[in-house]
Amino acid sequence: MEIQKGFVDSIGNTPLIRLNHYSDLTGCEILGKAEFLNPGGSVKDRAALFIIQEAEKKGLLKPGGTVVEGTAGNTGIGLVHICNAKGYKCLIVIPDTQSKEKIDLLRTLGAEVRTVPAVPYKDPGNYVKVSARIAEEIPNAIWANQFDNVANRLAHFQTTGPEIWEQTGGKVDAWLASLGTGGTFTGTAMFLKTKDPKIKTIVAEPFGSAIYNFVKKGELSAEGNSFTEGIGNGRITENMKDAPFDDAIRISDQECLETIYTLLRKDGLFVGGSTGINVAAAVRLAKELGPGRTLVTVLCDSGARYQSRLYDKDWLATKGYSIPEI
Ligand code: PMP
Repeated sequence: MEIQKGFVDSIGNTPLIRLNHYSDLTGCEILGKAEFLNPGGSVKDRAALFIIQEAEKKGLLKPGGTVVEGTAGNTGIGLVHICNAKGYKCLIVIPDTQSKEKIDLLRTLGAEVRTVPAVPYKDPGNYVKVSARIAEEIPNAIWANQFDNVANRLAHFQTTGPEIWEQTGGKVDAWLASLGTGGTFTGTAMFLKTKDPKIKTIVAEPFGSAIYNFVKKGELSAEGNSFTEGIGNGRITENMKDAPFDDAIRISDQECLETIYTLLRKDGLFVGGSTGINVAAAVRLAKELGPGRTLVTVLCDSGARYQSRLYDKDWLATKGYSIPEI
């Protein structure tokens, strides 16, 4: 074991965990990249670091400067940790529909947090648009712009993808991930395709997101909605441009719930809703492909970030769900 020099050096090099229950069930190796073990607790630490490092390299972010971002939570959490470690201030704009755990954590970590009503992207009050305006108003501030700043997907092209390739010894039949900004899916998929173009790169989607129909029919349209956070999009971001979208699998919230509770009860893994979408999609694909394949997906963040929601029976009841019997 080597010593990591502080928070920043501890990002990445996460374990690749065999999901034993679902692997045994399908006869495939279903592997989860344990991004919840990043020091900031999610897959977004990688993007946050690359965005800050790029702004430093370009001379845009100077000592004592401020990083401003609109985020569903995890990018902000990664950013504020890194800002603390590097001596920057951090201002986060977040839709008020996101979990209390994430909003409270951002404040505890030291970010200035502004909650705004959740409105569509085209509305000037949308959290992403608000964060862009605030960044312009503050002197010596940068806008992280995770959706369209391709330093985000570069993080996954340069780290997540190579780590998966090495950890599997190059034996990967499929890569699946849900998309928020699209950085994780696209950067990793693009890297894996450079190694072996036969690797299937598959989008895992909740209802209410337009990427499923985009991949299936070439149109940005959506049906239904989802209680998942941090994933789903109505547009093709810069981070999704030219993504190798081989196919898409759509997962219901009920399947997501059954999957996260199965991971908890059978494998001891406590994960959030986007991980439920990812793993459910991997299980469906494994059943379609048949035994003997290796499928890799992401365990994006911990269930602790959703304890008052996905793991709370009263909250689930307000959405018409109950805790699945596993
Ligand atoms: N899962 C969770 C819990 C997230 O917060 C995010 C990012 N918003 C994602 C998945 C999707 O990652 P990306 O932005 O790289 O597409």
